[in-house]
Amino acid sequence: MRRKLAAGNWKMHGLTDALAEVKALTDAHPDPDVDLLLCPPATLIAQMAWARGTHALQIGGQDCHAEQAGAHTGDIAAAMLKDAGASHVIVGHSERRADHAETDADVAAKAAAAHAAGLIAVICIGETLDQREAGHALAVVTAQLQGSLPEGATAANTVIAYEPVWAIGTGRVPTLDQIGEVHGTLRAALRDLMREASGVRLLYGGSVKGANAAEIFSVPDVDGALVGGASLTAADFSPIVTALENA
Ligand code: PEP
Repeated sequence: MRRKLAAGNWKMHGLTDALAEVKALTDAHPDPDVDLLLCPPATLIAQMAWARGTHALQIGGQDCHAEQAGAHTGDIAAAMLKDAGASHVIVGHSERRADHAETDADVAAKAAAAHAAGLIAVICIGETLDQREAGHALAVVTAQLQGSLPEGATAANTVIAYEPVWAIGTGRVPTLDQIGEVHGTLRAALRDLMREASGVRLLYGGSVKGANAAEIFSVPDVDGALVGGASLTAADFSPIVTALENA
């Protein structure tokens, strides 16, 4: 049985006053029936950990370095995220793959560093529009999964997020059949890669909103969502959490 996960990625949004959204979200879901995760900018992790009080809200970073420490100005180590109060870290988000030329090997190394620090790695994969239109989506995500999953990945320390690049922040969403096809393919690919494949949570990400969440969560093998824009306010994120609780 996979526990469902509603994860929010705040990207480069949020100053201290955004923590009011954490209170609103935890007040709206005092005892959520799903795992709740927010990944704020690193500057807010410690304050968010304080703001959640005794609530089960989980907190994650948005990236970590592949090394545990060293001369890497401006980077952040997985152990630092953990020290600040994080339990998770997103690795391989398409914005980082694009903006920082991160390869699958880089992502696997970051996920391994996350595991070594005791963090759950949320590994993102997803095809571009050109790749989708060329009929290569399944091959692309399968290759990304193989290349981004580190040795030692388990159902407990790893979450996979399928995020088609063309759906992120665009309002465009794949059809339910397309989502189901990719998630089914990823589940089968995981079986070839690791023993605990059936326990690994597969999230869908890309323009998930309150209005489309329920139908997306009805797709087999969708165990939750990684949400960008609609995770920034409790008013937008709460209906998604509720839809997942009811799925
Ligand atoms: C994301 O950034 O991971 C994402 C899915 O963004 P959005 O929900 O805004 O499309």
